[in-house]
Amino acid sequence: MEEKKRNIALLGSTGSIGVQALDVIRRQKDFLEVSVLTARNSADQLIAQAREFVPNAVVITEEKHYQQVRDALEDLPIKVYAGDKSLEQIVAMEEIDMVLTGLVGFSGLRPTINAIRHGKHIALANKETLVVAGEIVTREAREQGVGILPVDSEHSALFQCIVGEEINPIEKIYLTASGGPFRGWSYEQLRHVSKAQALKHPNWEMGAKITIDSASMMNKGLEVIEAKWLFGLRNEQIDIVVHPQSIIHSLVQFEDGSMKAQMGLPDMKLPIQYALGFPKRLKNEFPRFNFMDYPQLTFETVDRKVFQNVEHAYQAMEKGGNLPCILNAANEISVAMFLEDKIRFTDIADLNGDAMANLPFIAQPNLDDLYQTDAETRVWVRERAEKLKKTV
Ligand code: MG
Repeated sequence: MEEKKRNIALLGSTGSIGVQALDVIRRQKDFLEVSVLTARNSADQLIAQAREFVPNAVVITEEKHYQQVRDALEDLPIKVYAGDKSLEQIVAMEEIDMVLTGLVGFSGLRPTINAIRHGKHIALANKETLVVAGEIVTREAREQGVGILPVDSEHSALFQCIVGEEINPIEKIYLTASGGPFRGWSYEQLRHVSKAQALKHPNWEMGAKITIDSASMMNKGLEVIEAKWLFGLRNEQIDIVVHPQSIIHSLVQFEDGSMKAQMGLPDMKLPIQYALGFPKRLKNEFPRFNFMDYPQLTFETVDRKVFQNVEHAYQAMEKGGNLPCILNAANEISVAMFLEDKIRFTDIADLNGDAMANLPFIAQPNLDDLYQTDAETRVWVRERAEKLKKTV
C-alpha cells in the first residue's frame, strides 16, 4: 500500500531555509508535498515556486504585491492571500501535517502558536519563537500533543542523539559553535569590523540576520535559550564549545558520562530533511563526509568578554521572564541598524545589554506582555542608537 505523503506548509519559502527546504522536498517527492508557501516581499520568487510546486495556497505578506501574485497564478488552482493575518491563519488549513517555520525573528511567533493550537507538528527553524516565548510555546505543544522538531543544526544534532534515550536523563549538553568570522579577535578589533566582513561566514550559507548573529555570537546565545526549552534543561546543563570545522553539530552527555555527538558536513539540508521526514531517515544523494578532508577536529572556549552577547543570553536565561524577549527584540533592531550602516559592530552587543538593563522586567509575562515588550524594546533601542550617534 502506498503511504500517505506528508503535507508541508512552508512559512518563509523564499528565505534561505525555505529555498533549501524546497530543494529537499523536490528530491523527496514520494514522501513530501507542499501545501502552502508564504513570503514577505519576494513576489517573483514566490510565483516561480508556486508554479513549480502547485501548493493549495500561497500568502504574500506585503499586501502591495497581492495583485501581481494573483494575476501570475490565475491559471493554476492556487488560492492567493495577503497580509500578516492570513499568514497567521493559513496554518490552520485542514490538510497540513507539518508547518516549517523559516521566518526570521519575532514575526514567527504568532503563526507558530496558531499552528500548535491547530494540532500541527512544527519543524522549527525560527529559534526566536522559543527564545521569546519558550515556556508558553512548549506548554501549548505538550497540551496539544504536537511535536516540535528542531531544524537548527545544533538542536537537530541534540535531538538525533537523544532519540531512543527517552528513559535516560541528559546530564549536560554542549552546543558547538564555529566561532564565526571573528574567532580569536579582540574587542578592539571588533570595533572596526565592516558589514562585508561580518556577512562572510566561514562554514554556513545563511540569511543576513543569522549571519550577523553568528559573527556577534548572538546566534549561539539564542541557541542556548532555545535548547533550554526544547530539551527541558536547567541553565547550568548547557555549555558552548567552539569547534571551527563545524563537523560535530553538538553533543549530549548522559548520566553515566557517555557522550553522543552527531556529525556531518555543514549543510542545512540535512537537519531540514530530518525534521520533515522524522522519524524516518530518507535516503538522499547529498555529499558524504570524508575523514581525510578533516584530519583534525579542534575545540576552544568562547571568550565571553569579547563576545558579550553570549553573556547577555546566559543572563537573560537565568533571570527569565520577559528578559529573553527584550534581548531578542533589541538584537533584531541593533542588527538591522548595523546592516543599515548606522551603528558599529560592537554597538550591537552594547545596545542589547543596555536594553536588558533599562526596559521594565516582567517575571511572568503572558503573550500580550511579550508582544508589548517586543514593541517597546524596538522603539527604545532605535532611540538609544540615534542618541549614541549624536554624542560620538
Ligand atoms: Mg544553529
